Amino acid sequence: MLKDYFEKLYTGSQADFFRLADGAMDREERLFVVTANPEVMMIAQATPELDAVLCSDAATIVPDGIGVVRAARGLGLELPGRVTGVELAWELICHAGQTGRRIYLYGAREEVLQALVRRIGTEVPGAVIAGAKNGYDHEDDAVFRDVLEQRPDLVLVALGVPRQELLIARWLDEFDKGVFVGVGGSFDVLSGQKQRAPEIFLKLNLEWLYRIAKEPKRFGRFFRSNVRFLGKVRRIGGLDRRD
Ligand code: UDP
Repeated sequence: MLKDYFEKLYTGSQADFFRLADGAMDREERLFVVTANPEVMMIAQATPELDAVLCSDAATIVPDGIGVVRAARGLGLELPGRVTGVELAWELICHAGQTGRRIYLYGAREEVLQALVRRIGTEVPGAVIAGAKNGYDHEDDAVFRDVLEQRPDLVLVALGVPRQELLIARWLDEFDKGVFVGVGGSFDVLSGQKQRAPEIFLKLNLEWLYRIAKEPKRFGRFFRSNVRFLGKVRRIGGLDRRD
């Protein structure tokens, strides 16, 4: 249920979450991060398997989307702001580089993936790429069999929602360590193939508007899920948080 997602939503700052995730990598713990925006939450409402993943103890949900931050505040949570998938992915890549850890990248188009691998090679020389597979020419479970064999410390999966989360959730128990994040279109941005919104849009919390202006085909999907999201958030009674 939507309410459950907010009950377990991470409410610290992005910097604190970076420390938490970096620490999990250092200590060789297992961490599965779901970066949630209203669309992700609405897809989960319509997809029982994803709903189960979001509600499970295995997944940590962070608010990647100003709609989720605002809704959470409306429900009485004190949230400093967003924890974005694209920034989290880069932070974890850099941390892996500083500590000589192994990274596995799965998803996006081959040229995007190769551009990202090149960028990591030049900007994060300490990072070891344990594997890099595009999201179009491979079978998900076959890739994860390889991931399991490689035992990477960081696994970034860029296939879109819900495929990336369901894949990670299906395999998570097989791993004894690793930070796993479903990062959506982040490889497109981190590789430099797609522009992120200019700073002013980020400051004004209008990244969503920039993305729609750049890709108008997103509008219908965005509008429908956000309107339904707001309606559903309004119907949530009080939260019953564990912390
Ligand atoms: N993608 C993929 N294989 C597919 C479909 C999509 O690897 O069969 C990738 C796509 O190239 C993109 C990412 O998945 O890099 C999803 O991007 P999108 O912007 O749709 O995701 P969002 O950030 O909106 O969740």
